[in-house]
Amino acid sequence: MLCFDDIKVEYSCQGYKATHLGISPDERSSVLFFESEVKTKDVHCPFCGHDVYMHEIYDTHLNDVPIWAGVMHRLHFFGHRYKCKQCGKTFTEEIPFVYPGTRITERAANQIKSFLKHKISVRSIQEITGIHWDTIRKMQTEYMKEKIAERKSELEMSGYQPRFLAVDEFAIH
Ligand SMILES: [Zn+2]
Repeated sequence: MLCFDDIKVEYSCQGYKATHLGISPDERSSVLFFESEVKTKDVHCPFCGHDVYMHEIYDTHLNDVPIWAGVMHRLHFFGHRYKCKQCGKTFTEEIPFVYPGTRITERAANQIKSFLKHKISVRSIQEITGIHWDTIRKMQTEYMKEKIAERKSELEMSGYQPRFLAVDEFAIH
């Protein structure tokens, strides 16, 4: 069994380094903290290419796959916001691991899709991962679209040509 006190964090990715793992007093959620290690001298303005200076530190989080069953897990990032010395525009570092259009990690999205594949309900997935209902529903919609597209291309490959459309039942009330 995992013992919280024995965990040593040695993890870095895309300019970020994990600093420590925390757990809430009620043990309902755990958080892995990351800090940006990017050097300002290595960053250039994405708009004009000139040098920048660090404007401020910002923080944000992503929901992730739980380490312990039923304990919601988050990644918390402290990143840099820069300002261009030439054009004055500001921009922030990209957050690693993010699944586009959500506040969850790529691997959390993959895990949710895997649960859906095994026909686990949205409510159960929510209870297992602690991830918001709307996010899981979004994953479900994406998953269904992917499956429909797969099926469509399978049918096209097999030369399927339907000639009749049958409607089975019709409910008034
Ligand atoms: Zn600029």
